Amino acid sequence: MKDDRTERDFHARSEEEQQAFLQETWCDNCQEANLGMKNPREYLHKGVIFIEGECERCENVVLTELTEDDF
Ligand SMILES: [Zn+2]
Repeated sequence: MKDDRTERDFHARSEEEQQAFLQETWCDNCQEANLGMKNPREYLHKGVIFIEGECERCENVVLTELTEDDF
């Protein structure tokens, strides 16, 4: 199986953008928005950019999906 994820450099984003992505989250486990995430990683998968990190509260994986409008 080919891994079609392309790693991107989250830290190449502006400081403001990074802060926004780290704060504006949705955690499926907590069922709550904007708890924040840590250890962010960014990658491109099937034409969608994902920012993946850990929920600040429960350390579950949180994913932010960026549509093309957000690029
Ligand atoms: Zn959580």
